[in-house]
Amino acid sequence: MPTRKPTQTLAAKPDLLLDLVAANRILAMEGVLDGYGHVSVRSDKRPGHFYMSRSVAPQLVKVADIMEHDADSEPVGDDRRPYLERFLHGEIYRQRPDVMAIVHSHSADVIPFGVTRAKLKPIYHMASFLFSGVPVYEIRKTRAENDLLIRDTDLGRDLAASLGKCSCVLMRGHGMTVVGDGLPEVVFRAVYTQMNARLQSVAGQLQGPIEFLSEEEGRRATATNRGTIERPWELWKAKAMATG
Ligand SMILES: [Zn+2]
Repeated sequence: MPTRKPTQTLAAKPDLLLDLVAANRILAMEGVLDGYGHVSVRSDKRPGHFYMSRSVAPQLVKVADIMEHDADSEPVGDDRRPYLERFLHGEIYRQRPDVMAIVHSHSADVIPFGVTRAKLKPIYHMASFLFSGVPVYEIRKTRAENDLLIRDTDLGRDLAASLGKCSCVLMRGHGMTVVGDGLPEVVFRAVYTQMNARLQSVAGQLQGPIEFLSEEEGRRATATNRGTIERPWELWKAKAMATG
């Protein structure tokens, strides 16, 4: 019987865990996460491992809820209940050494783009990072009999392969998974992917065709936004943590 590991003994820097709590609350505040979905960050001590909350609604996550997960997405020395879909995190960290943080969301705004021929593309500069393309993961290709959830390493591996080198992968009839080089960037990308989906759905009802950002515009705007990402992060963190 594994014993619960007191959070105080987690090897992570305290600031990293506090930022992970903040990321949970920001994403709940912005409506990217509700009772479901999760955010993780790669371990600063053991790069194959990552930190993520036990199975609890993101708005309620506290530092004491955070567990270390190993490279196979299992909690390390902690018998509390983990998220069912933890495997998507471990497999993306395994396949993408550049990824330092991951958000998985059931955002209703992105669902239409995973079930139709409409492709999610950058409609404005805040979501310019989508220029690299937004693949759609079809879970039936991995497993015909499924419940849509990424509930083991095989499904996580194929989702990670579908993501490829992109920033975001949609999951048919399920949601999206977004990656970044840290918590500020992944939160920024999750918020603005959702906003882009919302705006693209609106624009699609107006006289078309829609003028999307070109690949070059996407590349340039992404570089510009990277330089200012701390500004919304500090604002969101202050608002999200003000409630205690
Ligand atoms: Zn899910």
